[in-house]
Amino acid sequence: MSARILNGNAIRDQIKAELAAEIAQLRKGGILPGLSVILVGNNPASELYTRNKVKTCNELGMSSERIELPDTITTAELLAHLDRLNLQEDIDGILVQLPLPPQVDAKRVLLALDPQKDVDGLHPINVGNLVQGRLGLVPCTPAGILEILRRSDIPIEGQRAVVIGRSDIVGKPAALLLMHGNATVTICHSKTRNLPEVCREADILVAALGKPGMVTGEFVKPGATVIDVGTSHLTRREDVLRYFPNNPKKLQDFDAKGATLIGDVDPVSVTPVAGALTPVPGGVGPLTIAMLMVNTVRAARLRRGARAIVGASS
Ligand code: NAP
Repeated sequence: MSARILNGNAIRDQIKAELAAEIAQLRKGGILPGLSVILVGNNPASELYTRNKVKTCNELGMSSERIELPDTITTAELLAHLDRLNLQEDIDGILVQLPLPPQVDAKRVLLALDPQKDVDGLHPINVGNLVQGRLGLVPCTPAGILEILRRSDIPIEGQRAVVIGRSDIVGKPAALLLMHGNATVTICHSKTRNLPEVCREADILVAALGKPGMVTGEFVKPGATVIDVGTSHLTRREDVLRYFPNNPKKLQDFDAKGATLIGDVDPVSVTPVAGALTPVPGGVGPLTIAMLMVNTVRAARLRRGARAIVGASS
């Protein structure tokens, strides 16, 4: 047996096509959803992520801006920008790209966001909405996980789900979404005993621990769906050969860049056991930006009094 590979790129494209149609309809009705992305400093990864977010907005016919601020900014100065954006009528979503420089109080900044514009879904009001199962803004990566499952016709209701990781951004919200989907959910973390044994109970196993290749076939019940959220880099050639034997493309990628991506799942031992598996790259990752777009459109509809359509179930 070999796991069905769940193609996140194809699902992302499907969602984007649906969103583009929805945005065109909204624009006819006089609503142009708008996202403001705040980039502080010049971290290359953050620059790339924010550029991609603005580019995707433009592709879909939304308005977007990137506000570039110096890495010497104070908390008070950043809060002043947020105050202005919170009040700006044509901005539906505000995203503060993390990490912020150490002198900035990131918790205060996230609390200062208007929860109705918090398209990352991290404000306590939105977390509360998620806990209570109210329609709101849900963190993008966990929302993407649910989209992959639903759009791949993987049943959730009544299934045993195990989530490895309990972060605010992935593990906890993923577990809540699975619970709201009527799965029976176990959350694991670094203090969980007998981790492989607990994971082997899962029909749906979500690996969000940030440990390259740690989830091996021993963690997987035969036929289970495995969602690999992890994004780490292998920086040693021998590790690339170990995790990706007989994979010349991966080796080429490594030789060109000096590093190559790997998830939390060891593909060699998991692929023969799992029923379905998201690859890294090309699994959960592409969904994250797509769900940010879904959230921006949802924020526009919720704030401007119209019901969300795409992704309304997540
Ligand atoms: P995080 O904040 O570091 O949380 C990691 C979680 O995993 C913690 O709850 C930790 O437990 C648990 N953990 C760590 N080592 C473990 C072990 N050996 N056994 C069991 N549990 C363990 O990470 P995160 O932000 O949730 O991200 C997780 C991974 O997803 C990272 O690789 C990140 O890059 C990736 N990610 C990908 C996307 C995407 O778009 N694809 C988006 C976000 C994150 P404790 O709580 O006990 O410390």
